[in-house]
Amino acid sequence: MICSGIAREETGADNRAMSDRTLSNRTVGSNEWQRRIHRAEELAARYTSASEILRFYGAIARFQEKFYRDIEGSRVVREVAADTNPFARRMERELARKFRPFLSMVERSGPGKLRETARELAAQDEDSHLELLADFWETDGSAVAAETGDFFARAFLQPYAVAVRTRAKLQWKGPTAFVCPFCKRKPGMGVLRPLGEGAQRSLVCSFCLAEWEFRRIVCPGCGEEDPVKLPVYTAEELQHVRVEACDSCKSYIKTDRKSVV
Ligand SMILES: [Zn+2]
Ligand SMILES: [Zn+2]
Repeated sequence: MICSGIAREETGADNRAMSDRTLSNRTVGSNEWQRRIHRAEELAARYTSASEILRFYGAIARFQEKFYRDIEGSRVVREVAADTNPFARRMERELARKFRPFLSMVERSGPGKLRETARELAAQDEDSHLELLADFWETDGSAVAAETGDFFARAFLQPYAVAVRTRAKLQWKGPTAFVCPFCKRKPGMGVLRPLGEGAQRSLVCSFCLAEWEFRRIVCPGCGEEDPVKLPVYTAEELQHVRVEACDSCKSYIKTDRKSVV
């Protein structure tokens, strides 16, 4: 049973210590969006050839930060987070009602093709918006993965997913999870933190930004454990970034090396 490892964090000092150790529910919140906004601005100034897409990335992060603050303590987030398995809930209509400002932002700041799609979506009614968001939320996302709709649903719903997970204080104590133990999406990146003489790796969900521990010498794509087939690439000028590749399934994941726990 996939969700058997999900547990809720109890209140109290002892349990808080446990949650720090399991790393499964680090708070992301506004700081993560702020980090993304600054990073996009910094890179846009440095790489002028990519500045249009980087400014758009910054505009998305700004929208997400505001949206997160708006819904963080809302009734809908409180109710959904109180559910035993919040990610198995139906998509709430209230979210579809808040979709238009996101479409307007993409119409203003997006690159050509997305701007066009945003305009087409804006011409649709609330029921169609609900259907698009539900298709993404109520499946693991793969049903709409190849379509442009995936971008709209994912980017718009991400602050909602983070708010629900953070408020629900979900914990993962089950076996190694190859996809996010909470929302079942693929990891988007890895994090390495110093631990004793070595380092401990965790994965970060590409959607709800949950972080969970994952063995270092295992491919998150296919489970390959042979170190020879798992090359790691680093670049001199980007010491804190590693690209962890897998020769078996030809996938890779970018991992950030943190200097503090
Ligand atoms: Zn997730
Ligand atoms: Zn692999």
